[in-house]
Formats: sequence, C-alpha cells, structure tokens
Amino acid sequence: MSERIPVVFVGHGNPMNALRANSWSRGWAALGAALPRPRAVLSISAHWYLPGTAVTAMAAPRTIHDFGGFPPELFAVRYDAPGDSALAREVRQLLPAPVELDEHWGLDHGTWSVLRHMYPAADIPVIQLSIDEMQPPEFHYRLGTALRPLRDAGVLILGSGDVVHNLHTYAWGGQPAEPFDWALRFETRVRELLVQGDHAPLIDYPSMGPDALLSIPTPEHYLPLLYVLGASLPGEPVAFPVEGIDGGSVSMLAIRVG
Ligand code: ZN
Repeated sequence: MSERIPVVFVGHGNPMNALRANSWSRGWAALGAALPRPRAVLSISAHWYLPGTAVTAMAAPRTIHDFGGFPPELFAVRYDAPGDSALAREVRQLLPAPVELDEHWGLDHGTWSVLRHMYPAADIPVIQLSIDEMQPPEFHYRLGTALRPLRDAGVLILGSGDVVHNLHTYAWGGQPAEPFDWALRFETRVRELLVQGDHAPLIDYPSMGPDALLSIPTPEHYLPLLYVLGASLPGEPVAFPVEGIDGGSVSMLAIRVG
C-alpha cells in the first residue's frame, strides 16, 4: 500500500513561466520536491478543451507548443516524459463517461510549463485527460471523484489552469500591474471556500456573481480545479504553496489538498 498522494491545482499563467526563474517557478520546484514522489502524473490542462473526454495513451507523448507570438526559446522546449498506456486504460475504466484513448495529442504547455519546474528530470510518466467542453461543471467534479482511487496507487492528479484568468484585462507588456479589485475579491472568496471545504459554490461558480464572471470569462482555465476538488477527500488539509496575481488579472494560486 503506497502513501496517498495529495491533489494539486496550479495556476500556470503566462507560458513564459516555463523558462523564467521567478517566485512562481521556484514555488513549483519546491512543491515538486515537497510532495511524495508519484509513480505517474495525470494532468488535466486547460489547454485540452474539446467535445469529449480523452486520455493520452501513447508511450512517448510529444511536447506541444500550443501558442503563438512567443520567442523561439519557448518553442524549443521539450519535456520528454514517458507516457503510461496502462494508466490511461485504468482511467478509462474508472470514469463514468465514455473515454477515448488518444494517440494524437501529447503534453501541452499547461502541463509542461509547470512540470519542467516540478520534475525537471522528466522521468515520471505523464498522461493528460481532456476537458469535455460540452459538459456542465458538476460533470467535471464527478469525474474528479471517480479518480480518487488513483491517489492510493501513487498517481499525482494535477489540475493546470488559473483560478482567475482574464486575458482582456491582462498586462501583456510584463510591467508590474496591481491586481484588479474583482480578481482579488474572487480569489480570496475561492480560498475561503477551499479552506472551509465548501465545494458547492465552487462547482456552481456562476452563482458567485459578477466577480466570478470577470474572473472566469471562459471556463477552461477554471474547470481543472473541479477535477482536483472532486478527487480530494473531506477534511483533508488545504494549502496554497504558490500565490500571486500576474498582470492584474491572472491568478497564479496553487492549491494543494492532502
Ligand atoms: Zn493557460
């Protein structure tokens, strides 16, 4: 019986964090070092958002550079972690929805921009689970609950998105920007609910009002959090190993449960 692995959500923010040495990337490295070493990582990234649920099943997932307008150094990054076909089949068995075994995707920057800091040796197998854009938030939380047994089998369930992700208001120039009031208020409310273990409002996030609408203008960066919360157990400790709001409106909050 292996140790139960905590569940983790990371705010990945700007893709350039993959290359930067800053408080966030150092925080990801420290988080990787602090966690029990997993035998595999199951990543739910905001950047694999499509109609349907799929899980990467190839032996050697490619590094996907799913962005434009960034410097060549970022396109040169490779994260050559192996896949884990057996784990992909196990995920398909566990989930209460049809799951496609995918041979085409790979690891997108939601996954590798963080993992190259958490696990720089890229020697832990990684698979990705897509987010079905046709489904309501409760569906994603329910899939998360179905993933719980993996935690006792040495698998790190990692959600990668941003609790607050508004690129219309984001300061792209890289200049220091004060967080918007609505971004701070929403992130603070999310933290309170997480500490209280009160997941219902986090699932029904549109009910949290105008701050939620501004913080989550589109769902894909928020939904990975619901998988992580679904996979958490009542009463587990909650910690925020990485904090900050980048460019005024992108939360870098990382959440560790367990
Ligand atoms: Zn992103």
